[in-house]
Amino acid sequence: MPGRCPVEGSAGVSGLSAPLRNLRESLGPPGSPWQKELITLGPGESAWQVVLKKIQELSNSDHQDPFMVADLGMLASRHRAFCQALPRVSPFYAVKCNSSPWILRVLAALGTGFDCASQVELEQVLGLGVAPSRIIYANPCKPSSHLRFAAHHGVQLLTFDSEEELTKVAQHHPRARLVLRLWTQDSQSSFPLSAKFGARLEVCGHLLTFAKDLGLAVVGASFHVGSDCQTPQTYTQAIADCQRVFEMGRRAGHDMSLLDIGGGFPGAEGSGPKFEELARVINAALAQDFPEESGIEVIAEPGRFYVQSVCTAAVNIIAKKAVLEPGGGRKLKYYLSDGHYGSFRLFLREPVRKMPIVVKEFCSELPLFPCTLYGPTCDAFDRFYLEEVWLPELDVGDWLIFPSMGTYASSMTSSFNGFLPAAISYAMDPELRSLLETVP
Ligand SMILES: *Cc1c(COP(=O)(O)O)cnc(C)c1O
Repeated sequence: MPGRCPVEGSAGVSGLSAPLRNLRESLGPPGSPWQKELITLGPGESAWQVVLKKIQELSNSDHQDPFMVADLGMLASRHRAFCQALPRVSPFYAVKCNSSPWILRVLAALGTGFDCASQVELEQVLGLGVAPSRIIYANPCKPSSHLRFAAHHGVQLLTFDSEEELTKVAQHHPRARLVLRLWTQDSQSSFPLSAKFGARLEVCGHLLTFAKDLGLAVVGASFHVGSDCQTPQTYTQAIADCQRVFEMGRRAGHDMSLLDIGGGFPGAEGSGPKFEELARVINAALAQDFPEESGIEVIAEPGRFYVQSVCTAAVNIIAKKAVLEPGGGRKLKYYLSDGHYGSFRLFLREPVRKMPIVVKEFCSELPLFPCTLYGPTCDAFDRFYLEEVWLPELDVGDWLIFPSMGTYASSMTSSFNGFLPAAISYAMDPELRSLLETVP
């Protein structure tokens, strides 16, 4: 198991530490395909400027495909922020949130663990040379063949929340180190999960005995408060519930040593509590229910917090219709090069509408028109917002930029109707890049 979260205050821009060699190796020989996706930022240059430069380049070419820019320096600084605010908690990054290869590579080099939910995610992370002990297979309902894959590759930490899953684990992965996933009150989260996963406290005693009778080792408890959690008290309650499960587990003869506080940490400062505030509440709950002296190892599975602000998406207006209303009003329909079946799958479910930034030469702020934004496919459901939004008059060829598109965007794309997922470029600051290139 990994130790505490490594925090380097001194290591320059990205806080990158020892396993640079891994990253260096994954850079490959000069000119390898991966390298083409990497952009080294010039002195003082930001990822935002890279987005604008690419728009300029594409506008002068005859391809205006949608694209994303990922800011890897930002990723490293999110890791630092997490570790500083929650010093007792080792992050196991949730791969499903954004599984782009360079995101995973940089996190592996920074020393995070990983939360995987399927065989392919396990393969992806193991393929980076990450030790199986740095992985938790945190999907409580797993296909048997994926369980056998985990067993075969030494991935031992698994979550469960039912008798049926325990029966499967006993058959396919009897040496697993199991973590009991608890139900939480997550109605205040933007994306609740508890209808689908989590055992109620009342049934935990039975599940722990059932596991013991099957000869299985339960080593801890976990929960997920729902993605984008707005109520710190949810963590307090869930941590207190875990403490009770630890007692039940010990009574059933299990060696309880691992607490997993899941994900759910908001990815951006919004209307809800700040991350530091959330962290203070979590640290207090840990001190209360799992004091340092207990020696309990604490991990988390952050997804959104790490990557939301890392990626910026740029989409092009590929078609437009102006509609004159009977009363003389003017409405506009814009058809964009990316949409619901690409990077914007979650857009309609976002609690707060995320508005784009308009890129247009000589764009006047006014007047604004009621506009409908559609994606490029032939499905009418492929749209950005349920209602109209107010935007200035734009033309075919103009661009819209959507910041904070790092979560559940590129990892949920499809090629429906023949529209390919947006290509991702990765921006690295020069300090990080030169560090990589001077590692022997
Ligand atoms: C999705 C998921 C996460 C990540 O959640 P975020 O809200 O993005 O932090 C962590 N753990 C599990 C089990 C998940 O399903």
